[in-house]
Amino acid sequence: MNVVSIMAHQDDEMRCLGTMLRCQARGDRLGFICLTDGSKGLVDRPHLDRPAAAEVRRKEMAALAQAVGAGYTCLAEPDEYLYDTPALRDSLIEAIRQAAADVIFTHFDPDYNADHVATHHLLRHCAMQSVLPVIPTATAPLKNHPAIFCVEPHGAFAFTPTHFVDITGVIDRKIELLRLHESQEAAMQQAVGWGFDQLVRVPDGYWGQKAGCRYAECFVPMQSRGAIKPFSVLP
Ligand SMILES: [Zn+2]
Repeated sequence: MNVVSIMAHQDDEMRCLGTMLRCQARGDRLGFICLTDGSKGLVDRPHLDRPAAAEVRRKEMAALAQAVGAGYTCLAEPDEYLYDTPALRDSLIEAIRQAAADVIFTHFDPDYNADHVATHHLLRHCAMQSVLPVIPTATAPLKNHPAIFCVEPHGAFAFTPTHFVDITGVIDRKIELLRLHESQEAAMQQAVGWGFDQLVRVPDGYWGQKAGCRYAECFVPMQSRGAIKPFSVLP
C-alpha cells in the first residue's frame, strides 16, 4: 500500500511518522505532501524573506523523505494563509493521484492552527474527488478511495482517539528523523520551550500508557463515505 502524510506544514508528520515507519516495515511505500511552503515557521529568524525561509523548510522535509526512501511534494501555498481555492483543489487532487494514496494521514478538526483545519477540509473533499473522473488532472483517477486517519492535534482538545499504534520499537528512529528539521528544533525551543525529543516522548508516552505500551500514536478515522474502511488498515 502507499501510505501518505498530507499536512499543512513540514514537520506536521510528527504525529504519524512512527506509524508510517511501522507501515514501511510491513512493506508499504511512504510519501509526504505539504500544502504550504512553511515559510512562517522560523520564529527565531523572522528577518528571513519568504523564499529563503521556504527553501530551508523544503530542504529539511526533502532530507527526511529521502532518509526513508519516500517521495515529497510541496504545493507551496503561503504558510499561515492557506485558503481553499479552485487551483489548490486541483493541485491536491493531482498530488493524491500521483502518490497513488491508499492510506492518508492528515490533520484533525478542530485544531489550533487554521492551516491545519483548512488542510483537513480540503483533504476531505479532494480525496473523494481523486477517484472521480469529473475533475481531470494529469494523472488518472484512483481506483479506490484512500482510507483517511486524522492525527492528534497539538493540544488535544476535543480529540478522543479510537485507533492506537504501538511505536515503541521505532521511537528513537522517529525522533532522529524529525531532527532533520533542524530549523524547527531551534524554533520550537523558542516558541514552546521543547525540542523534538519532548514533543514526541511526552504525548506518545501519554497515549502509550492508555494503550498498554510504552509509546503510541493514535488516530480518529475520517468519518466520511469512502474514507472509512470496514477492514483493518493500520499496523
Ligand atoms: Zn503545522
